[in-house]
Formats: sequence, structure tokens, C-alpha cells
Amino acid sequence: MIPLFEKYLSASVNIEYLSLADLPTPVIALKKLGGVLGIDQLYLKQDGLSGHLYGGNKIRKLEFILADALAKKVKTVLTFGCVGSNHALACGIYAKQLGLRSISILMPQANATYVRRNLLRSALSGMELCYYPAYDLAMQGAEDQKQICFERDGLWPYVIPFGGSSVLGVIGFVNAAFELAEQIAAGLLPVPDYIYVALGSMGTAVGLSLGLKALGLKTIVKAVPVVGSQFANQTAFLQLFREVNQFLSKADGLFPKLLADNFEIVDGFLGEEYAVFTEKGVAAVMALLDNEGMKIENTYTGKALAALIDQSSTCQDKSVLFWNTSNTHDYSQSIETVNYKVLPNNLHYYFESPVQPLDQDN
Ligand SMILES: *Cc1c(COP(=O)(O)O)cnc(C)c1O
Repeated sequence: MIPLFEKYLSASVNIEYLSLADLPTPVIALKKLGGVLGIDQLYLKQDGLSGHLYGGNKIRKLEFILADALAKKVKTVLTFGCVGSNHALACGIYAKQLGLRSISILMPQANATYVRRNLLRSALSGMELCYYPAYDLAMQGAEDQKQICFERDGLWPYVIPFGGSSVLGVIGFVNAAFELAEQIAAGLLPVPDYIYVALGSMGTAVGLSLGLKALGLKTIVKAVPVVGSQFANQTAFLQLFREVNQFLSKADGLFPKLLADNFEIVDGFLGEEYAVFTEKGVAAVMALLDNEGMKIENTYTGKALAALIDQSSTCQDKSVLFWNTSNTHDYSQSIETVNYKVLPNNLHYYFESPVQPLDQDN
């Protein structure tokens, strides 16, 4: 049984769950990077290895979301993202594994090598890729796609929001906090003073913050926005925290009502906008590769690690955990034979125009 349900048995009765991920993910001591930064107690939570088909943070959310979709007997799931979306890709891969169709409603972003890879891998999963050149067109397109789906399946598709940060998705990260607590109890790491994590659709950081609070741990979640403040901000964080808290308290009367006073939004590392790489982010990605031989990426994790590195002087006597939310499994071989011309025409642009200048294909 998963750690959250061991503690909250009624929740296990009332909440659908499906095991998809390889859990628990490892905790690794970053001895060399810690040495360079002067942080004795620096650790990494390796969610990059969370799924053997495709790792990263999204699979933890999908365990709850796709379980709910199956329980509702839908045939198709529909989700949203920018063209390089790791969430849309994870959805396509794990929906296929469960015999569900998938549709992604995609929107523009800065071009990068990983965008091309993710698009090709999504196509390989059989996901239907629908690209729109602007947000409002995408919202209209989504309505059209739902209708088409209804006419085909006789059922509406199951809609999954951006980044999988529905209430159910966030519970994946409440459970992740409980998983971490077991690793702390087993002596794999001390209770972190700080957890540094990227903040996008917020489900990851909100779930961790709620879970840590429920556990009574002193850890502060340092959430580093990698999207604009219209999407990730204090108010929206608190709102999502409250919604998930209410849901869990309803699912299990023993789950406490909690105060979200254990997180901090660390601004200043987003750069120009979402998915535009930054000098500091690129340097952080290099620092982890050089010192620990581990690859992360530039849209989320590089920016979060840049914040940690920037603030390392305030972390010297603290125990610090960096939460790696990006996939580590290399799937490039599986897409070698996929030609981008099989994608819808309006996506060819991403293969025919150059990637952004700071992209060294990490
Ligand atoms: C989606 C994503 C995040 C952000 O997580 P949220 O739950 O959306 O805040 C961080 N890192 C990577 C690699 C992601 O794909």
C-alpha cells in the first residue's frame, strides 16, 4: 500500500489509485556539488527514475488521475500543454499503456531540441496532437475536439488540466511527501530544512507542502516559478492547497485541516518567460552534470537548481533537498525512425526553424 494510504486508510477506500510509477524513487547525496557550494547536507530526490517508460514528476499525478479516468470508464483523455509539454507526453505514454486514447491541445513555446523529441515521442504513443497558435484558439479547439470525441466514443473525454494539477493529481505529491518521510525514517537523509522545486502548474510544490505539513515536518518548500506570475503565485498556491486539503479531509475524516505556512515562492529565476533558457539555469545544469554526472533540463529543473545555487550561502548549515522533477530515461532511440512529417503540418515549424541560442541540448 502507498505511504499516504497506510496512514489514512479511509482515503484508500475513497480515492482511486493505480500503480504506474517505480516508487519509492531514490534519494542521492550530492557530495561533490554540496562541497562546491559549501552545503554539507545536500540531497537529490530522483524522480527522474519514477517511471521506466517515462520518468519525471507527472507520473505521480497520473497514478491518481488515470485511475479516476478508468473508474469513470472513459475511452479518451484530453489534456493541455505547450508543444514541448512533459505532462502531455507522460499522458500519451501512460494512457496508451492503459488502453486509453489521448488527445493533447498544444500551444506555442520557445523552440528547443527537447520540444522536437517530446513531440516525436508523443506521436509514437499514438497521442493525437492538436496545435493552435494562440491560447484562445486552443480553448476553442479543445471544445471542438471534445465534440468530435463524443461523436466517436459516445462519451465525453476525461479532461486533465495543464500539468496534471487537478486535485487528484496533486495528491500524487502529498503521497510523495509521505514517501520521503519513510526515507527519512529509514535514515537515508535528515529532515530537510529546505526543498527546492520548480513551480509550474504548482501541483508538485503544493502537494509536497501539504504532505509535509500533515506529517508535522519542519521543512520549508522553496518553490521556484518557471512560468509567469499570472499562473504561479501565492494566491493560486494557497487556493490549490486549500482545495486539496478539503478533498482529503472529506475522503478521510482523520486528515487534518492545515495552514499553508511552510512554503516560499522564490522569484527571479524565470528569465524572459516559460521555456526560455537562462544563463544561470544553463550554468546550474552544467554544475550538476560536471559534479555529479547527472542530467537535468533547462525549462524547469535548471531554473530551480539555479535558485538553490544562488541562495547557497543561506544554506550552509542547513539540510537541503533538490527535487528532480525531470525525466532521466533516454528515449531517443525509440524516436530515431519517427519522421516529423508524420506530425500535423502546423507542428513542422518546430523542426524547420532553429532552436533558441542557449540550447546546447541538455
Ligand atoms: C511539469 C514540470 C514541473 C512543474 O511541476 P508543476 O507540478 O506543474 O508545478 C517541473 N519540472 C518538470 C520537468 C516538469 O515537466
